[in-house]
Amino acid sequence: MTELLLSKGYTVHGLVRRTSSTVRTRLDPLFYDKEVYNHRLFLHYADLNDSTTIRRVLAKTLPDELYHLAGQSHVGASFEIPESTCEFTAMGTLKLLEIIRDLEKKPRFLHVSSSEIFGSPDHTPQNEQTPMRPITPYGVAKAFATQMVSVYRDSFGLFACNAICYNHESPRRGESFVTRKITKAAAAISMGLQDKLVLGSLDAQRDWGYAPEYVDAMWRMLQQSTADDFVVATGQSHSIEDFLVAAFRSISLDWQDYVQYDAKYSRPAEVKRLAGDASRARECLNWQAETTLPQLAQLMVDADRKSAERDQGGPS
Ligand code: GDP
Repeated sequence: MTELLLSKGYTVHGLVRRTSSTVRTRLDPLFYDKEVYNHRLFLHYADLNDSTTIRRVLAKTLPDELYHLAGQSHVGASFEIPESTCEFTAMGTLKLLEIIRDLEKKPRFLHVSSSEIFGSPDHTPQNEQTPMRPITPYGVAKAFATQMVSVYRDSFGLFACNAICYNHESPRRGESFVTRKITKAAAAISMGLQDKLVLGSLDAQRDWGYAPEYVDAMWRMLQQSTADDFVVATGQSHSIEDFLVAAFRSISLDWQDYVQYDAKYSRPAEVKRLAGDASRARECLNWQAETTLPQLAQLMVDADRKSAERDQGGPS
């Protein structure tokens, strides 16, 4: 998101959490770019449960647009830490809305919602009218936040939108999500650095797209004349096996020779099948997903191979 906004000439103020580790690998290229950091990109320490700090940063920087992508976003982890998931993902969003409501100059607000709000929907594909039926703590937290955005839009006149995003992946995806776990393992296996990949249930189907395309949709939403919600998805549902096939095909190996099952990666409840209908985004935003699942798997495996080669001291 930051890269997209900088490429469009924005000045970006990013909020980062204060932890004992200062490693922020995804931001490093921008942070070490002397023409960007502290010129067009500024970072501020803040946390979603620290309203005073966020209020202060917003009052000082007076943003035109606010993109809210923060929160505990791992569905599996949300069963282990439901309270903090709801504190950040649900209440954190409400706190932001409350702060904006009080600001004299109100920024346009984009909340990144999730297909998890649909949980076990009664039809596929889902669109903006599909009822929310979340079945995971993360899905419940996102449903609360999504509905609250619409309440603040309707009741307080905020320019507030929900981007109802289906799974969006890239080489920057966290290593504990299934796509990245697969591509990182495939890369390591192809280089003789790993000999197996342990996963949970392979039953679920997801609508996986390429993250840079999804941030473009988010930006387009805030350039509309009226605020609204949009499903952002490819429309194609694939099984985890499809992703395994694509990732291992790109290194000319058979996934079945390497994958093992461990129940510890299974969840108490599983969203079975999701596919999004992004027709409204196509009509109103002139947006549609371009990257196919095999292309996505290939580009992620390639990036993981490059990174493993760098770690080995080989070609970069
Ligand atoms: P999610 O759709 O946001 O939950 O994205 P994930 O990448 O975390 O999970 C996608 C699907 O892969 C879910 O149905 C998981 O249960 C399934 N899955 C199977 N094995 C694994 C694993 O080892 N890690 C993760 N994260 N998911 C797994």
